[in-house]
Amino acid sequence: MLSGVEHDVPDGIGMARLAWTRLPTADGERAGPSTSAGADGELLSAAAIESLDYEVIENYAYREEQAQRSKFWVPYYVMLKWLFSLLIGVGTGLAAIFINLAVENFSGWKYTVTFAIIKHSYFVGFFVYTVFNLALVFSSVYIVTNFAPAAAGSGIPEIKGYLNGVDTHGILLFRTLVGKIFGSIGSVGGGLALGKEGPLVHTGACIASLLGQGGSAKYHLSSRWVRIFESDRDRRDLVTCGCAAGVAAAFRAPVGGVLFALEEVTSWWRSHLMWRVFFTSAVVAVVVRSAMNWCNSGKCGHFGAGGFIIWDISGGQEDYSYQELFPMAIIGVIGGLLGALFNQLTLYITKWRRTYLHKKGKRVQIFEACLISLVTSTISFVLPLLRKCSPCPQLDTNSGIECPHPPGTDGNFVNFYCSKDGEYNDLATIFFNTQDDAIRNLFSAKTFHEYSAQSLITFLVMFYSLAVVTFGIAVPAGQFVPGIMIGSTYGRLVGMFVVKFYKKLNIEEGTYALLGAASFLGGSMRMTVSLCVIMVEITNNLKLLPLIMLVLLVSKAVGDFFNEGLYEEQARLRGIPLLDSRPKQVMRNMKARDACKNQKVVCLPRVSRVVDIIFVLRTNKHNGFPVVDRGQNGESLVIGLILRSHLLVPLQAKVDFQNSPFPCGPGVLNRHNFSDFVKPASSKGKSIDDIHLTEDELGLYLDLAPFLNPSPYIVPEDMSLAKVYNLFRQLGLRHIFVVPRPSRVVGLITRKDLLLEEDSNNDVMAELQSTS
Ligand code: ATP
Repeated sequence: MLSGVEHDVPDGIGMARLAWTRLPTADGERAGPSTSAGADGELLSAAAIESLDYEVIENYAYREEQAQRSKFWVPYYVMLKWLFSLLIGVGTGLAAIFINLAVENFSGWKYTVTFAIIKHSYFVGFFVYTVFNLALVFSSVYIVTNFAPAAAGSGIPEIKGYLNGVDTHGILLFRTLVGKIFGSIGSVGGGLALGKEGPLVHTGACIASLLGQGGSAKYHLSSRWVRIFESDRDRRDLVTCGCAAGVAAAFRAPVGGVLFALEEVTSWWRSHLMWRVFFTSAVVAVVVRSAMNWCNSGKCGHFGAGGFIIWDISGGQEDYSYQELFPMAIIGVIGGLLGALFNQLTLYITKWRRTYLHKKGKRVQIFEACLISLVTSTISFVLPLLRKCSPCPQLDTNSGIECPHPPGTDGNFVNFYCSKDGEYNDLATIFFNTQDDAIRNLFSAKTFHEYSAQSLITFLVMFYSLAVVTFGIAVPAGQFVPGIMIGSTYGRLVGMFVVKFYKKLNIEEGTYALLGAASFLGGSMRMTVSLCVIMVEITNNLKLLPLIMLVLLVSKAVGDFFNEGLYEEQARLRGIPLLDSRPKQVMRNMKARDACKNQKVVCLPRVSRVVDIIFVLRTNKHNGFPVVDRGQNGESLVIGLILRSHLLVPLQAKVDFQNSPFPCGPGVLNRHNFSDFVKPASSKGKSIDDIHLTEDELGLYLDLAPFLNPSPYIVPEDMSLAKVYNLFRQLGLRHIFVVPRPSRVVGLITRKDLLLEEDSNNDVMAELQSTS
């Protein structure tokens, strides 16, 4: 298949020259001006997306570096991996504490001030409440639009893409991390219908990636001593640890974090990685717990007494009867339907937003977020005013529940627009409260019937609508908490009905609220095992495990009937080319050659003229080029694959340029470190525009042999495309050469040839060293 483009390779003193006229015209330079991921839902330009190189590029510099490694290198490398796992855990745990501390305090101040003012005037209270929310949301959208566009949304689709082998520019940068942390504080503290858990996964991934590349060179926060993880493969492992740490920190669910990484975000998993991910999650649990213990004594303002994402509902329904399984399955069906509807509506709205709104620029995005903040504040303040208050339920005084309790400091009932002190407003209890406290109230298993059906339905309709329109605005936003709130509302409604129907059974509405939350998340995100464990960990109630499993299975099955999971749909909408774990059925009947029919392969001769290389790079957007040479009999031989980013290294350094059009000797070996070839994660890296050459330099030659990957993966043209897909997906490849059926076999490797004994291993190493 390497025949599409004519190329002359050096023969005798002939000059390397490409037939330019046959080269395809580029539709735009790939590594163009600085691009990064935009607001959530924006279609990423081709220049903002690039595949990662999980394959080891064994060029000269790599082999040189391998040969020079001392015997202490491997222990140092392993130790550093564990150290980084520890640091990722500590960093993500601290980031989670900081975000929670800030959100809880902002919310606490907001409610304290608002409640103090409404004693005198509801109108002024509403004004102050709205302005407070608006200021926080404005700060968030301003940071995202002006400073860190890639921090918009949850970041989970992009991280899922990264771990699938697609690098989206900007998602793992230092400024994205900063934007994510401060943006989350503004958007969640500002009372929007979104959560901070998804952004924490992104935060963990950013921390992991930055540690992996030894800091941020751009902000002079980097150290070469820790810059050891130079391959995308190592960074992928660290980012996996970061994702697990994010979930572990968000929900204080270490095992849930590990399973989330395994089930939802990674595409490759090994038992060694499992160990490290497990360790990182455990570290997060310790860090978060220590901080919580410290804050419980009141040192952290409003954070500590009630904050953080954990809803301990132990003491609730101890057991369940078989009659309850039917209504519980109904909750699963409702979750599947509402979850799939949520995915579909957010898909339509995101497309609409992208076409009509976000094209108009940052100002429109800021205006949109502020408008949604105003609407959210108005609904959450005004609707509870229309409800009548009820007398506080008769509670067990040892239960720890007080009624009413000032919101923002602890969960429980809110005395809002009530004539007497011993009353509470049920709608305000869930609407005019911090999210964590509202969920704690909905899950509450210690009392009965504290919410009227009317309030729950009002909240469900309004909050569902708000969550749909809020999704996709230019602020950091997670969907876990809105999902839990929506699900627990209809779960509680079903619970109320079941309590009435099965009067004799000991049924808790709070248990149904929990199952509702699980069902909505299952119906929208389509996770099962990880969600199940997260729900058990956050509620601290193992007895409900089989019930949670039941609703998750039902809701996922129902949701899958209609559409894909939320993250997959959003990834596709953004143009992130995710490869599923299995090839499509039709690929079984296709051959490798069918996938590259009519392709004119752009090759480079081994010794190329500098001007020719520049031309190829400027007129093509491809990132990999086969390199060809002439064999002894004058036949054309493919000697490897060269990456665009690797070609730019000698072009920028210029030290390898030569006057002769013949292959160079081995003198070039020491001129480049392997680190020269490493591109920082999620940045655009070097571009052809960074190369400035004089006329004389353009006329020189470059021998590409030292810079290419001499052993790219190759498949015969008649291999089934399904097989190629599995090879590509499982090895995390970026390019595969398709060649005619090979004519000769030089050997055959079986399992036994790969099981080298220790002695023969040493012999081989010694032989290799003597040859090199
Ligand atoms: P990625 O986008 O995954 O980082 P890439 O940039 O090398 O890899 P693209 O240029 O985006 O690949 O590929 C677009 C199309 O061009 C694909 O169909 C691919 O097979 C084809 N292609 C890639 N490299 C070459 C090449 N050197 N010559 C001809 N066609 C190519």
